[in-house]
Amino acid sequence: MDIHCRHCGEPWEIYTLHEFNDYNRRAKLFAKLGCNALMDDGENTTPCNMPVVDLGIAQASAVLQDDSPHPDDWLGASDLLMMLEGG
Ligand SMILES: [Zn+2]
Repeated sequence: MDIHCRHCGEPWEIYTLHEFNDYNRRAKLFAKLGCNALMDDGENTTPCNMPVVDLGIAQASAVLQDDSPHPDDWLGASDLLMMLEGG
């Protein structure tokens, strides 16, 4: 089950978030910074600027992450993307 960086579309296993002691803070950061929220000690305040791997899924994830603070709700990005694309 993957969540996706809103900036580059990189998939992250949702359990990666749960491995942090400061889960709630990291989740909030992830909705803002994407990948960078999961790096190092979480003190990085720069949004992810990795090359975009999947723009569509990144955009769908941004919608979900603005919509809900709960990472479990961010898992539906590919479903949302399919809906948006009319597929
Ligand atoms: Zn990223």
